[in-house]
Amino acid sequence: MKQILVTGGAGFIGSHLCERLLNEGNIVICMDNYFTGRKQNIVHLLNNPNFELVRHDVTFPYYVEVDEIYNLACPASPPHYQFDPVSTTKTSVIGAINMLGLAKRIKARILQASTSEVYGDPFVHPQEESYWGNVNPIGIRSCYDEGKRCAETLFMDYYRQNNVDIKIIRIFNTYGPNMRPDDGRVVSNFIVQALKGENITIYGDGTQTRSFQYVDDLVEGMTRMMATENFTGPVNLGNPGEFTMIELAEKVISLTNSKSKITFHPLPADDPKQRKPNITLAKEKLNGWEPKISLEEGLRPTIAYFRQYLNAQ
Ligand code: NAD
Ligand code: UDP
Repeated sequence: MKQILVTGGAGFIGSHLCERLLNEGNIVICMDNYFTGRKQNIVHLLNNPNFELVRHDVTFPYYVEVDEIYNLACPASPPHYQFDPVSTTKTSVIGAINMLGLAKRIKARILQASTSEVYGDPFVHPQEESYWGNVNPIGIRSCYDEGKRCAETLFMDYYRQNNVDIKIIRIFNTYGPNMRPDDGRVVSNFIVQALKGENITIYGDGTQTRSFQYVDDLVEGMTRMMATENFTGPVNLGNPGEFTMIELAEKVISLTNSKSKITFHPLPADDPKQRKPNITLAKEKLNGWEPKISLEEGLRPTIAYFRQYLNAQ
């Protein structure tokens, strides 16, 4: 049995990760300031004596004795991370310094939830880990992209300078139950709009692509990465299936039997045109890990979650 700290544990991915780690028999400390996370994501875990919930902001030092740290604290949806961009950068950078300092002091292994956004609007397609990316340092996405890039730098420097046992994963667009209806990312937006019979809001002409990963596949990859020896990453974790936003909208409309109409809206600045992970490294280093759940298979439980959520309102 390990003691594990999950920062951002009440968020979408964090809540699935906490549940998985508890099911494996670990003691889990979930730390969150509820900026985008919600207690209802983890309320069903509160009766578990191995689960502890702490309200704390990762930009302030936190002391605890654990064996492993998963550092997920950071808003991930563009409207949320752009709401207070200075705080977003602080969360990534100061949060990483605080958690790396903790890991160094208590000799814990620490995993950073980095992102495909470190590749920016990529010239290399599909993206592989050796690509340094094409990121605007002064745009509206920079607080997130550059914050995450700086966090990767800090992780590598604590590794080289202090021998901290680090792991870096680069997560590609992930979706599933426990996303907020007002999260603002494309999968939750389209599903909520389709279920309410509202217009589907495509930004730009809808030909931009993303690769969508169901959350269970990601959590499997995260725990496998944490268990590796002699491998820091960064490693891509994503589903290589690539879809345009028009294809996604059509799939969501058909799976929800919705009468919603597709509408087009201005494309936000610096919106990447295409994104798809090369997962060769993950397969090699994580015992053949690869996503098992197709977009359609993952959309079904996600739609069911939102349907139930909206019906309860
Ligand atoms: P989310 O917004 O649901 O979860 C983030 C969690 O971090 C929330 O619970 C939030 O309250 C918490 N948080 C934010 N600032 C904090 C702070 N200062 N102190 C403590 N807690 C704080 O987003 P998510 O999709 O679950 O993302 C989790 C992590 O994975 C993030 O680091 C994100 O950058 C990364 N990621 C996610 C995706 C994706 O597609 N979902 C893709 C790439 C990377
Ligand atoms: N998008 C869209 N309609 C929405 C929300 C997002 O067309 O209601 C587009 C967005 O412009 C982007 C893609 O969907 O091209 C993915 O957006 P998301 O915010 O989910 O993630 P990210 O851009 O960070 O990959």
